[in-house]
Amino acid sequence: MELSPFSAFPLDRMNQEEVLELFIKTGALLEGHFRLTSGLHSARYLQCALVLQYPENAAALGGALAARMRELASVPALVIAPALGGILVAHEVARALGVRSLFAERQDGVLTLRRGFTIQPGDRCFVVEDVLTTGGSTRETMEVVTRAGGVVTAAGSIIDRSGARTDLGVPRVALAVLDVPAYPPDECPLCRAGSQAYKPGSR
Ligand SMILES: [Zn+2]
Repeated sequence: MELSPFSAFPLDRMNQEEVLELFIKTGALLEGHFRLTSGLHSARYLQCALVLQYPENAAALGGALAARMRELASVPALVIAPALGGILVAHEVARALGVRSLFAERQDGVLTLRRGFTIQPGDRCFVVEDVLTTGGSTRETMEVVTRAGGVVTAAGSIIDRSGARTDLGVPRVALAVLDVPAYPPDECPLCRAGSQAYKPGSR
């Protein structure tokens, strides 16, 4: 395992229990009726920002994810994530690997590279996000890499709430795998019971 000379944390393993403990301790595992970024509804929501507001948590999780991704592929040229949720994750994974950290953001509804960020043709890239639900954001970020001529060699997330069912077509890892049902709004049992979904962070 290569250590970045700048990494304050060893690229240790964190097991699923340790990761979820951080979420519970910081109130990041919410119960209710939520509208997820994917548009799906769910009774549970993982507010990763509450875990990552403590820089030492971000560094530990990023270091652990970097270590797991290095088991899948060699050190990439850069790490990239979708804004906003993935930015801190990419930053900490990149710090642990000693490489650049980029983010893609929406312009006219399409994820794109802005701010002068560049990916050179042939650049090997790790794509990360905070919580993977359907894999939609990661997939879109992978397309940003591919459009620039880069190659996605691995994908990673702090949490996979799809029960490991999501196939992105590249090696993929998560620090914790949960199976949390998420429903299209018209099939949502919570909507049917009369409650209203809200987007976490909007109140
Ligand atoms: Zn609902």
